[in-house]
Amino acid sequence: MSLPQIFDLTDRVAIVTGAGSGLGVIFSEALSEAGATVVCADIQLDAAEKTAASLREVGRSAAAVGADVSDAGAARAMVDEAVRQFGRLDIIVNNAGIAAVGAPEDVDPAEWAQVIAVNLSGVFYCAQAAARAMIELGNGGSIINIASILGDGASLPVAATAYAASKGGVVNLTRDLAVHWAEHGIRVNAIGPAYFPSTMTEGIFAEPQMLQAIEERTPLGRVGRPEELRGPIVFLASDAASYVTGQTLYVDGGWTSW
Ligand code: NAD
Repeated sequence: MSLPQIFDLTDRVAIVTGAGSGLGVIFSEALSEAGATVVCADIQLDAAEKTAASLREVGRSAAAVGADVSDAGAARAMVDEAVRQFGRLDIIVNNAGIAAVGAPEDVDPAEWAQVIAVNLSGVFYCAQAAARAMIELGNGGSIINIASILGDGASLPVAATAYAASKGGVVNLTRDLAVHWAEHGIRVNAIGPAYFPSTMTEGIFAEPQMLQAIEERTPLGRVGRPEELRGPIVFLASDAASYVTGQTLYVDGGWTSW
């Protein structure tokens, strides 16, 4: 296969959760541009529909589905809907996530439970639902979990303890699922972004001192540009990464190497 061919996702079907905003839009656009049909899922159906419509407007195949990833039944229904509409499932990007900030001694139990429910349990429910379908369909697949640099270290300068715990869980969940599902030809990897502009990070980006602290802590000296996540997602989704599983690819300007 030629180099362009190994990155080609033509005829593949992908689900992206949290596709209605921020990085989920970037991931949906990149997979779509590489040729995949993209099922845009979000707890906010109207936002998912907007992303899917923008892909269809430029002649690509896309659909929207409403799903709360922290509900295992909703995760299964999301996968069933994708398979019902398009007949296969090759890729799922478990991107939906939430954050809560504040000193660890002040974290409220309900807030803790909600962050773990969406960021960790939600990733597992969607991965499990997707893997069940992939095993039944027999074509293997690529599962990509969206972790964070905060899955590899403390949440400073931002204080986000439950978030950091959830993302650390995602990193090791990725290894565990990769090893268990390798026999089915299912690869499981994660992407660990540093700071990128989105709804989730708008508070951070609006605070000049915080932004400066982050830039100074980053070896490449700046925050991420959304388009810098396009190559990594297509790489992990495609045959270009056919021998890569269980890994977290940090897209972080060197943050986790320091
Ligand atoms: P965002 O807030 O812009 O988008 C998150 C999307 O997820 C929203 O559309 C929201 O409706 C959806 N969502 C929230 N809860 C959901 C649920 N229970 N079920 C389904 N959908 C739900 O945030 P973002 O920055 O684009 O974050 C996307 C992912 O990237 C998250 O997992 C986040 O932790 C991770 N991440 C982001 C950054 C960053 O700098 N932006 C850095 C590292 C990791």
